Amino acid sequence: MGLACTHQPECPPPAAADRAAAQVLLHFPGVGCSLLCNGVLSFEDSGGLGPDGSIYPPHRPLPNSGGQPAESKTPDVRDVVSVESAVGG
Ligand SMILES: [Zn+2]
Repeated sequence: MGLACTHQPECPPPAAADRAAAQVLLHFPGVGCSLLCNGVLSFEDSGGLGPDGSIYPPHRPLPNSGGQPAESKTPDVRDVVSVESAVGG
């Protein structure tokens, strides 16, 4: 890594699971993300972007689901076809 960490204890590396525990160097309130000491961009949704371009998915699910999954009223055509071909086999 090219970044020198002077914190004690030393900040976790970008690959560590607790990468978000690194010290915040810069905070960008407008875009809802922070630049951590280990070079990781930490987003408000708990996701992140590593210094090498790695994408770290958020730890918690996105809040935009209504609670119940959307149910489709018609069966999936591909399911019907696969069943028919299996029976007719
Ligand atoms: Zn540090």
